[in-house]
Amino acid sequence: MAIIITEECINCGACEPECPNNAIYEAGVEWAISEGTEVQGTFKMKSGEDVDVDKKFGPVSDEVYYIVPDKCTECMGFHEEPQCAAVCPVDCCVPDPDNEETEDVLLDRQSRLHP
Ligand code: SF4
Ligand code: SF4
Repeated sequence: MAIIITEECINCGACEPECPNNAIYEAGVEWAISEGTEVQGTFKMKSGEDVDVDKKFGPVSDEVYYIVPDKCTECMGFHEEPQCAAVCPVDCCVPDPDNEETEDVLLDRQSRLHP
């Protein structure tokens, strides 16, 4: 499952620098696939759409830190466990039951974000 940040987040910012995919953003900030990754050109999203890696998307949350599902690999390929969940002081980085993914899918995303 992908990891999601719940409304319990206290906006401490501890998780953001720990993410190997730069999938974590502060509330209200725009995001792009290319930020903190090595991918160039286009990137196939979970939806199947190919997007320009530099395209800016609107924030997922305006209230708390958020995780971009298209950039999260549950830290697979880098770490034994999700680093955001490991450092979060209020344990609000949790598996998203609505966003289950197999290890193969997560590792494929990791290799495409860091070719
Ligand atoms: S689980 Fe890992 S890849 Fe996903 S948001 Fe947290 S730190 Fe980033
Ligand atoms: S570490 Fe936890 S509380 Fe702090 S910003 Fe990240 S999700 Fe929010």
